[in-house]
Amino acid sequence: MSAAERVIRGAAALGTGLGLTFRTMFRRKVTVRYPVEKLPTSHRFHGLLSLPIDPETGKDRCIICFQCERICPDRCIHIEAEGKGKERQLSRFDIEMDKCCYCGMCVEVCPTEAIVFVPHYETSTYNRARLLYSHEDLTRAAPKEPIATGIVARRRP
Ligand code: SF4
Ligand code: SF4
Repeated sequence: MSAAERVIRGAAALGTGLGLTFRTMFRRKVTVRYPVEKLPTSHRFHGLLSLPIDPETGKDRCIICFQCERICPDRCIHIEAEGKGKERQLSRFDIEMDKCCYCGMCVEVCPTEAIVFVPHYETSTYNRARLLYSHEDLTRAAPKEPIATGIVARRRP
């Protein structure tokens, strides 16, 4: 290939690239400046697991049937109860979120919709022990250590 041909091909490639850049400048943006901006999650999104408080009773809806613990393929749900009959109360409801594969089987099997997914995905942490969610953490329905949110807070004046 002669020098002239190389120059013509180079100029054509440059023109193609610049044309694409120019067209893209006027297209609708599909990206967001995460974590300052966030996209809404689908209502079927599998985020953090939670035991929401029923506003009518002020308690969670768990009837301590152990079905979620039994069905969990990762063995990351740990439930213990005290008392008998109507007096029975949860003494432990922990989920090891670092083991959870977000399969949703615990949510599917729960007869009272006591355990649900909430749309939080910023659950990352530098300390693995922080991924053990206790009953209190689960009823709060929020990440224990929202690192990404923390970065936003630090960057904002
Ligand atoms: S989503 Fe799946 S892996 Fe996670 S706690 Fe529920 S059953 Fe276990
Ligand atoms: S399946 Fe539902 S009601 Fe049964 S122990 Fe799990 S969270 Fe509680």
